[in-house]
Amino acid sequence: MVDYDVLVIGAGPVGSTFAFRMAQEGYKVGVLEKKKKIGVPLQCAGLLSAKIREINDLPDEFIINKVRGAYLHSPSDHVIKVSKKETQAYVIDRVEYDKYLSQKAQDAGAEILLQHKVSNVDTSSSKVKMANTGQKVLQSKILAGCGGHCSVVSSAMNNSYNSVDAAQFLIEMKSNPLETDFVDVYVDEHISPGFIWSIPLSPHLSRLGLFGHHDYKKLNHILKNFINSNDKFQGAKVISKYHGKIPVFDLNKKIVENRAIILGDAASQVKPTTGGGLLIGFECAKFAAEAAIKSLESDDPELLKDYETSYKNKFLKELKNQLQVQKTFQELKNQELDNMFLKLKEKGAEDLISSYGDMDSQSLLVKEMIKRRILFSVLPQLLYRRMSRLWNFF
Ligand SMILES: Cc1cc2nc3c(=O)[nH]c(=O)nc-3n(C[C@H](O)[C@H](O)[C@H](O)COP(=O)(O)OP(=O)(O)OC[C@H]3O[C@@H](n4cnc5c(N)ncnc54)[C@H](O)[C@@H]3O)c2cc1C
Repeated sequence: MVDYDVLVIGAGPVGSTFAFRMAQEGYKVGVLEKKKKIGVPLQCAGLLSAKIREINDLPDEFIINKVRGAYLHSPSDHVIKVSKKETQAYVIDRVEYDKYLSQKAQDAGAEILLQHKVSNVDTSSSKVKMANTGQKVLQSKILAGCGGHCSVVSSAMNNSYNSVDAAQFLIEMKSNPLETDFVDVYVDEHISPGFIWSIPLSPHLSRLGLFGHHDYKKLNHILKNFINSNDKFQGAKVISKYHGKIPVFDLNKKIVENRAIILGDAASQVKPTTGGGLLIGFECAKFAAEAAIKSLESDDPELLKDYETSYKNKFLKELKNQLQVQKTFQELKNQELDNMFLKLKEKGAEDLISSYGDMDSQSLLVKEMIKRRILFSVLPQLLYRRMSRLWNFF
């Protein structure tokens, strides 16, 4: 006799959303979470595209701020302003939102087992062994690995796992108040393909962070220097510091094996250009639940593969395009980045980016820029040729 229909490993936002969907359909769901408390420590900038409301439940009480545009800064501070009239993104209280999603799963009937750290998984018998709790073993019909960047289920299916470090400060502005409806993004060859972000919570508080191919200590150092050298943030007080890991999107990652699936950060389902993972993770929780329900109804683990098909149909083209954009950016030196910003401004690209830009997908914008020959004039030849090959994807 199995203990559960579905065992979810990890009570992060993606695991809780998947657990809710399964429990709501009447399946016996257990959620194993290694931590004592859900949602802490904060490891997120909490910026979610307004499309979230079409994908998952986000009550108003978790929205701290609303954003309608961005200032994009080149290394020498040529600034491109991108904006729309309507709200483009929400800045959320991620800790409370995680708790809410977990409670929602529990209210739908899922059993949440805190301080249950899974150490071993067997994808064919779908048995898991706990590192604590006296090495307890549990078995289910389906295993869902939602353990984030250090997922044990992902490690059981895949040989390697790549991630980059991210650091974030909560800062208090001393003099210059912030425009609360705009985020700031700073690019520089030394952190590329990462970037520095400032996401305002109020006129006086901001989440200032970055990710990149440096260790956490170096990222902290870069952020401190940035505060001291940037006019806008000079004198800002660091109230708290956070750090986390962002998975590197991996096209070849196996996400279904026998009776097990992985989703969210465990499956590297993050946008290559921004590192954002919540929206994709939530959509994948929906696809995974649809496939898991079919699989349980017909007692056929093969049907779990439908999840992979739905995920790839929806996201693969866009994620491949973003990988190309990311690779192109990574090769640009600071002078080239400055030139690019200047030429983009000259060519009136601010309006184009405002119309076609989208924080979740860049394909439409790149396509439009190729069509209007803007990329041709702003990128070095070699990189332009590579980007224009993107046409093949459209
Ligand atoms: C600094 C930073 C800023 C970010 N900003 C944004 C942003 O603005 N917008 C956005 O969309 N995304 C952002 N992200 C990414 C986003 O936070 C992740 O994509 C998201 O948290 C993924 O959710 P998840 O449920 O897959 O994994 P996680 O949130 O990592 O949750 C995994 C859970 O599994 C548990 N777990 C792990 N291993 C085990 C085990 N062996 N046994 C039991 N439990 C286990 C963990 O304790 C954790 O609770 C950011 C990430 C970082 C690091």
